[in-house]
Amino acid sequence: MTTPEASSPAPNSSPRVLTLGHPVLRQVAQPVDSVRDEFVQQLIDQLLTTVRTANGVGIAAPQLGYSLRILVIASRPNLRYPHAPLMEPTVLINPQLVAASDELELSWEGCLSVPGVRGQVPRHQTVEVDYCDRHGQLHRQIWQGFVARIFQHEADHLEGKVFLDRVQSEADLLSEEAYQAMAIAALG
Ligand SMILES: [Zn+2]
Repeated sequence: MTTPEASSPAPNSSPRVLTLGHPVLRQVAQPVDSVRDEFVQQLIDQLLTTVRTANGVGIAAPQLGYSLRILVIASRPNLRYPHAPLMEPTVLINPQLVAASDELELSWEGCLSVPGVRGQVPRHQTVEVDYCDRHGQLHRQIWQGFVARIFQHEADHLEGKVFLDRVQSEADLLSEEAYQAMAIAALG
């Protein structure tokens, strides 16, 4: 299931998110040639549906088994990220990082492909990104903070990387349960 030719996603199926160990998650994804391709449009719909139903704030095509350079940023408060900022889900095709702040921030991340684990990961505070939307329009966008973090996390998936690769110390890893307990204690 690594190429569009191998299998077409059915529009109404509910796809499984691949977890760590699946080889597609470690491949460098291929650029999308034809944005208007029916297969590409169906895959985008599946990404948008999956990120919502799985309580994610972002997802990348390799997580559904397709090694293509498509990602979704969809920050909103949900069960897994109660304090995430609300934004319209944004589809990025063939994204390119144009610039990034020198300033790094260390904060917690999780991943639908790494269930049950959270880790502290350093990310650029601000990113400037070129991308193509699902209608073929080119955009240049600046994101900061949590949304910039989502972009960097999802862009890593297109390079065959996961957030665990960027954790600096094993002390920066927690179980989901311990993370939630810590987050509740911090609010208390
Ligand atoms: Zn992820």
